Amino acid sequence: MQLVNITSTAKGVVHKYGGSSVGTPEKIKAVAARVAKVAKSGQRIVVVASAMGGMTDTLIALAKDMGEVLSPREMDVLLSTGEQQTVSLMAMALNALGVPAQSLTGWQCGIRTNGNHTRARITHIDTAALEDCFSRGVVPVVAGFQGIDGHGDITTLGRGGSDTTAVALAASLGFDCDIYTDVDGVYTADPRKTAGARKLSSVSYDDMIDMSQNGAKVLETRSVQIAKKYGVKLFVGRSLCENRAEGTYIVAEAAEMKKTARAFL
Ligand code: ADP
Ligand code: ASP
Ligand code: MG
Repeated sequence: MQLVNITSTAKGVVHKYGGSSVGTPEKIKAVAARVAKVAKSGQRIVVVASAMGGMTDTLIALAKDMGEVLSPREMDVLLSTGEQQTVSLMAMALNALGVPAQSLTGWQCGIRTNGNHTRARITHIDTAALEDCFSRGVVPVVAGFQGIDGHGDITTLGRGGSDTTAVALAASLGFDCDIYTDVDGVYTADPRKTAGARKLSSVSYDDMIDMSQNGAKVLETRSVQIAKKYGVKLFVGRSLCENRAEGTYIVAEAAEMKKTARAFL
C-alpha cells in the first residue's frame, strides 16, 4: 500500500463504527452526538462507518436470489451500497446537530485498490478530499469497506473490511484510530463464546494479527497489519464508551500479552 501525504503533520483521530453500533436510526443519532462532541472540541476527526448490522448479509441473500454464479464486479456494486446508506444518514444526523459533515464513498475519498473484486487490497490513498473537508471545517464521514480500481470499478475489501479502511486512512493522515464495536475491547477469546474470557488492556500488533487470523473478528487481520506497518495507534472499545481505560490498546510491545500468550495458542 502506498500512501500519499504520509509525511502530513496533521493530527487527529479516525473513529470507526461497526454495524452493530449503527444498526438503528437511534444508534446512528447517538454516534453522531458523540462525534459532534469531538468535532466541537476542535480535534480533527474522520468517521468511518460500516453498513447497518445485518445489511451486508441481506444484500448477499438478495444477490443469491438472482442465480448461482454471481459476478464479483456486480457483488461489489451491490455490497458497497450498505455502507453508503449509513454514511449519508450519519452526515444528516451530524448536520442536524449543527456540525457540518459530508459523506464520502470510498472512491470519493481517494481509496484506490487493485481489481480483486470482493477481496480487493488498498494500493494507494489520496487524502486530498479529506484535506479539503478539514480546510472547510467539515467532518468527513467515509463509507468503509470500499474503494475503486484502475478501471474505475467499485471494489470491496472483504468481510470486516471497514476496519481496514479506518486504519489505512489513519495511516495516511498520521491520525490515531479508534475502533468502536459491540464488546468492551479485545478479550483472550471471543467473549460471546468462551466463558471466562478475559479482557486485555493491551495487545501487541503481532499477537493481534495471530488472533485475527485465528478468527477473532473484532479486528480484521489486514487492518492490524497496516497498523503495525505504519505505527498507527489503535484502540478498540465499546461504541459510545467514555472511559478509555475500559478498552484495549494495540501496541508494538504489550507486556500483558507476554504473560498471557498461552491463552491465545
Ligand atoms: P463490528 O460490527 O463492530 O465490526 P464485529 O462483529 O466485526 O463488530 O466484531 C466484534 C465481535 O468480535 C464481537 O461481538 C465478538 O463476538 C467477536 N470476537 C471474536 N473474538 C474476539 C475477541 N478475542 N475479543 C473480542 N471480541 C471478539
Ligand atoms: N459491511 C461489511 C461486512 O459486513 C464490512 C464491515 O462491516 O466491516 O463485512
Ligand atoms: Mg467488524
